[in-house]
Parts: sequence; structure tokens; C-alpha cells
Amino acid sequence: MILDRLTLRLLEILLPAPCLGCGRATGEIRPPLGLCLPCRGRLRPPPSPACSHCGRRIFTRRAPVGWLCGTCRERRRAYGELRAAWRYEPPVALVIRAVKFRRLDLLVGDLATAMAKELPRPEADLLVPVPLHWRRRLARGFDQARLLAERLGEIWQLPTSNVLQRHRPTPPQTGLSARRRRANLRGAFRLRRDLSRRDLRASRVVLVDDVFTTGATLETAASTLRQAGAGVPQVVVAAATPPPAGGARGR
Ligand SMILES: [Zn+2]
Ligand SMILES: [Zn+2]
Repeated sequence: MILDRLTLRLLEILLPAPCLGCGRATGEIRPPLGLCLPCRGRLRPPPSPACSHCGRRIFTRRAPVGWLCGTCRERRRAYGELRAAWRYEPPVALVIRAVKFRRLDLLVGDLATAMAKELPRPEADLLVPVPLHWRRRLARGFDQARLLAERLGEIWQLPTSNVLQRHRPTPPQTGLSARRRRANLRGAFRLRRDLSRRDLRASRVVLVDDVFTTGATLETAASTLRQAGAGVPQVVVAAATPPPAGGARGR
């Protein structure tokens, strides 16, 4: 089993792989993000100007920093600003899924490097990944948010802390309403006991995850950190699915 993984890993490194976006030959041994040049050119930044909590496109000529859409103004979130490098759509969505499900964790370094080119270095004291439950981490062999946070920490020269733990495994969120998602996640996180909470007090924390969909997971993680005395956490993700512009979704 271990040997198999090792062999696979070697093959991944040594053989020119087909593009994760379009499946065509890339002609490169290790193309950045596993994508061919045309697919790399198809990566799109999130809509702008947009709501700083949910990423919803705002139709105004100049939205001030920290602007919120009507939905987010009605129900404030536990986190501060959301920053995403790209829209969650192919080809970056295929890269993120390949990292998760095909164990292509080699690509996490590429993702972090590309993210750091798109996003300004946050004004922060600490990067905190949104963790997987240990059982899923064990099954998958790694935790992509943790790897992403560590790589970003190296690039931005910011410490990373695995202070959050998944307290219990949460059933998949897909197909649930926002209210059900929140109920599903209640008590999902706790703080690791062996880490000093003093570090969190008044710390400027940035939560790191691979994907933002409704923000329910990030919101629960942010609340847990705030209960421990951290300031309002900012959020950095590789890719985000913003609710449709002007629609009522995303609550
Ligand atoms: Zn391609
Ligand atoms: Zn919003």
C-alpha cells in the first residue's frame, strides 16, 4: 500500500500528466496547478465589486471597502472580509477536487503560490486552517486546508496554528438549506487543549480554507475562535462560489 502510493507519487513527478482542466497533453513535466497554458489563462478572479462577506457581485460603480449586500447586512457574519483568489469553476474547481480526491497534494504548493500572487498579504498575526475531522484526514492521508495554510504561511511569513479541531464529523452539507447547514455545524469545532489560548486573545486571525460556498463552515469556525477571544477573523480561500448577483440566495 505504501509502496503503491510511493510509486504513484514518482509517476506523478516524472511523467508529463494530462491537463486537469481539459485532459489534453500539457507538454510539461510539472505544469503549474496541473493545468496547460490555455487552461491557466482561463482562471477568473471573483466578481468585483462584491459583497465583502459572501462575494455577491454588487452593481454599483464604486463600492467602498467592506461593503455588504442586503442579505449580509440583515444577518451579520462572525467573520470579517472574505478574500478569494478565483471563482469556483473549472478549471480551478477541477484542480481543487483533484487535490482532495486524487491525493494530488503536490499541487497544494502550486495553489498557495498562485493564491499569493492574486491576494495581498493579510494584515494578520496568525493563519488558522479550517480542519477536517481526523477520521477524514486519516482516510485521505492529508488535510488540504492545513497544507494550504502552511504553504501560505511560508510565503507570507506568517505563523500557522492548528488551533481548531473538528469536534465531530459533520455529514456532507450539499443540498442542505443555509439554516440546516448551520444546525448541522453547531458545535462542530473546538479549540485544541494543548495549545495556549493566550495566543488567540486579541490576535488578528485569518481563517484558511480551499473553497467558500455558503460560508456556513467558516462562520462556525470564526465563532469558535471569537469565543476564545480572537478578533474578528478574516477569511482567505482559493476559490469561492458567490451567490447570484441580486438574488435572494446565500442566506
Ligand atoms: Zn488544459
Ligand atoms: Zn453578501
